[in-house]
Amino acid sequence: MEEQFDLIVVGAGSAGAVIAARASEDPRRSVLLVEAGPDYPDTAQTPFDLVNSHNNSYTDHDWGHSYQPTALGRSVPFPRGRVTGGSSAVNTTIALRGMPEDYDGWAAAGNPEWAWEKVLPAFKRLERDLDFGDRPYHGDAGPISIRRYAWDELTPVHQAWLEASDALGYPRCEDANDPDSWGSGPHPMNKVGRLRISTAIGYLSAARARPNLRIMAGTHTRRVVFEGTRAVGVEVERDGQVETIRGRAIVLSAGAIQSPAILMRSGAGPRAELERHGIEVLRDLPAVGTRLSDHPALAVVCRARDASLLDADQPIVQTILRYTAPGSEYRNDLQIEAFSFSPRGGPLTHFAVAAVLEQVHGTGTLRLASADPHASPVIEQHFCEDERDRSRLVGCLRDTLAFIRTEPLAGLIAEQTFPDPRRALSDESLGDLCLRLSASGFHPCATVPMGPDGAVDQYGRVHGLEGLMVADASIMPTVTRANTNLTSIMIGEMVGEWARTRGSKLYGL
Ligand SMILES: Cc1cc2nc3c(=O)[nH]c(=O)nc-3n(C[C@H](O)[C@H](O)[C@H](O)COP(=O)(O)OP(=O)(O)OC[C@H]3O[C@@H](n4cnc5c(N)ncnc54)[C@H](O)[C@@H]3O)c2cc1C
Repeated sequence: MEEQFDLIVVGAGSAGAVIAARASEDPRRSVLLVEAGPDYPDTAQTPFDLVNSHNNSYTDHDWGHSYQPTALGRSVPFPRGRVTGGSSAVNTTIALRGMPEDYDGWAAAGNPEWAWEKVLPAFKRLERDLDFGDRPYHGDAGPISIRRYAWDELTPVHQAWLEASDALGYPRCEDANDPDSWGSGPHPMNKVGRLRISTAIGYLSAARARPNLRIMAGTHTRRVVFEGTRAVGVEVERDGQVETIRGRAIVLSAGAIQSPAILMRSGAGPRAELERHGIEVLRDLPAVGTRLSDHPALAVVCRARDASLLDADQPIVQTILRYTAPGSEYRNDLQIEAFSFSPRGGPLTHFAVAAVLEQVHGTGTLRLASADPHASPVIEQHFCEDERDRSRLVGCLRDTLAFIRTEPLAGLIAEQTFPDPRRALSDESLGDLCLRLSASGFHPCATVPMGPDGAVDQYGRVHGLEGLMVADASIMPTVTRANTNLTSIMIGEMVGEWARTRGSKLYGL
């Protein structure tokens, strides 16, 4: 292709779609958004699995990755959206911000642009909070609509769970995105009725009409093309043909699994890892793939007394408890979350309540399986090997067990099926369960971490290379104390705004 774009964004997910939409607000800048999956130009043409926010879409628009959660566990599927909107188009639509201290921690680690007071305007800009838009820490005019279920919209499981929470003495929290809040209440969610407000719907629907924005779907990026140490384009595969598209600046927004993989295939990553696969080393970046950060979770599973209360067409998640482990220095480092039903194949009979560790010390790894541009990376999380993580998840699991023994939730339960109630549940045996069976909340990040000792600087620019940025969940230095979609969109807002307003100085646009 002869044409050269000012900016090429690889991956139209939570961050990439936002960057392309924001950067193309300047009509003088040509922007190409490259996406491996399909693109649906409007909601009428969008398939039901993407529209239906009541449950995740796991197969129809998925990459088919797998991962090893714990050293003792089995390898299991690791879903990631493969479509415009990325994982925001297939996810549960929980729209939770991290704690202010998460972002201040990133700033303290050498990334001052990401302090809470600096990212708050981006969080406000991205949202239209339909319940609390008038509060100083919320926005009411952004592309992503957010609301919370009212009491009479909650399924019986969520109503009973909330009342059990009251009985256990946790305070009610009407807005989990209030930066000072904790307690239990309805989840903020980026859905309107059943419709999932992905970044494809929130951002691209309006931006796609711009003549200076081109969305190229069905196009798999194999690697970044360099002249010396300057990125000059991307090598892509489209309709079975390999071609190079030139750009003055390239942003990788392919997500925490694929951005590090593309980077390594392009010659930027840990030297030994690249050499193992015969990839010429352009830049030794030891932090790529070596600090994977994610939320380990383990659910208590119950058989319902009255299976007719369980309905797979109802929202699977509606409520949340955010709270702090005893003695922890990390506010809201734990979450407990009920699931309206637990799909096990066949008729629905069970529901679940999950314990989730939100602030983690342990890290995992992401490595290339081969230099083949279609090979999924090898992902090992090593959840709960760090004693500080394991002990807090054990405590959270105990608190979760207290929920299912408390009325009115207890009254909905015929029997607890996991963990096996006949076995003694000592801290040690619960710790063993965490080491064997904890699994990802699907929030991988920090695989291309920002920071002076990371792989990119605070503007997303890859250390030691020119014209190449990374901007998506992979640049978070550590996982936030919250589900990661809203923070990924915020990252898109920050980098998109920098591209629009300071693009020539920061990115050579
Ligand atoms: C099933 C599921 C449920 C989740 N639930 C929630 C939730 O309720 N709330 C929450 O906050 N978070 C949730 N998450 C996590 C959240 O959605 C992600 O953290 C967030 O979407 C990550 O954004 P991203 O921009 O980094 O990556 P993505 O949104 O995954 O975007 C990456 C994009 O790049 C494209 N891409 C990848 N490789 C290539 C390539 N080689 N060439 C071209 N294109 C490529 C992908 O197809 C995709 O469109 C969930 C995730 C999943 C999978």
